[in-house]
Amino acid sequence: MKAITVEPKKPGSARFEEVPEPDVGNGSVLVEAIAVGVCGTDVEIVEGKYGWSPPGKGRLVLGHESLGRVLDPGAAGGLKKGDLVVGIVRRPDAVPCPNCAVGEWDMCRNGQYTERGIKEIDGYMSERWRIEPEYAMKIDPSLGLLGVLLEPTTVVTKAWEQVVAVGQRAFWTPRTMLVTGAGPIGLLAALVGKQHGLDVHVLDRVESGLKPELVRELGATYHSGSILDIGFEPDVIIECTGVGSVIADSIQKIAAGGIVCLTGVGAGGTVGRVVADVAAAVVLKNNVVVGSVNANKRHWYKATETLARADRKWLRRLITRCEKPENFQQALERRPDDIKVVIQFSEV
Ligand SMILES: [Zn+2]
Repeated sequence: MKAITVEPKKPGSARFEEVPEPDVGNGSVLVEAIAVGVCGTDVEIVEGKYGWSPPGKGRLVLGHESLGRVLDPGAAGGLKKGDLVVGIVRRPDAVPCPNCAVGEWDMCRNGQYTERGIKEIDGYMSERWRIEPEYAMKIDPSLGLLGVLLEPTTVVTKAWEQVVAVGQRAFWTPRTMLVTGAGPIGLLAALVGKQHGLDVHVLDRVESGLKPELVRELGATYHSGSILDIGFEPDVIIECTGVGSVIADSIQKIAAGGIVCLTGVGAGGTVGRVVADVAAAVVLKNNVVVGSVNANKRHWYKATETLARADRKWLRRLITRCEKPENFQQALERRPDDIKVVIQFSEV
């Protein structure tokens, strides 16, 4: 079969090549790939900045935002041939740490977790892949290709759950949510906010085009420019840019008792505010700044429900490009209008 593979930490080593059939060690369920989403992590791996190949192997099959069709469900019950499934990405560490021991691998404490297509386990960018039945999430068949949006939806599902958990510390009735960044994660965070009945606002740099349209179609309000000019203090901010100045503005603008949830991963940037001033704002308004990454099985399950409830036409517009596997290099190039680019292996 063919797969998109890479030698981790070696820039320019990605290729679409012939590889052996999927390793039975990866699970008893055999799946035919339909599509795999591309995100910034894939780009970083291909650029040689990130990623680890399976032990004893030089190359890693790329891809963690999967969608496939069950070819052989194996001996375990629960799945049948033809089911549409998405593979969970992370696996608990082998020690295990206390969190992995209770199924909270998203909160892994020792960093020894593994991840499909990222860290020590082959990913999903191959014509066929195998998975353990307990890590294969069955999706509503009417979603079809849209199932490829499940993995990014799990990220915002966990972020929202973190916000709700922190909110339990006091009487709190959040009404307004600001999402910073209208990429796939930001738009899906806005969807989750709308589904929970919040007045949702989304801020991004672009002033026109698909992103503002999608925000308005969701029944949310679009802003471009600075957070400081949005005209209100949000109860919740889901920060999806990782940009230092946006993070600092978020902490300054959040309402009293509000929660800023950071999901973006950035680097560097100038320090625009002294730490003690930022801390003073947090103290005096009882704010919480919480980071959130990855997702456990509960979030994956909730995310399947979020997608199943969402408007199919709106979700379809998030997928702006479908590339063939042999054109994976084009799929990894960022274009301004791209929201979610997927590599399509077979028809749904
Ligand atoms: Zn762990």
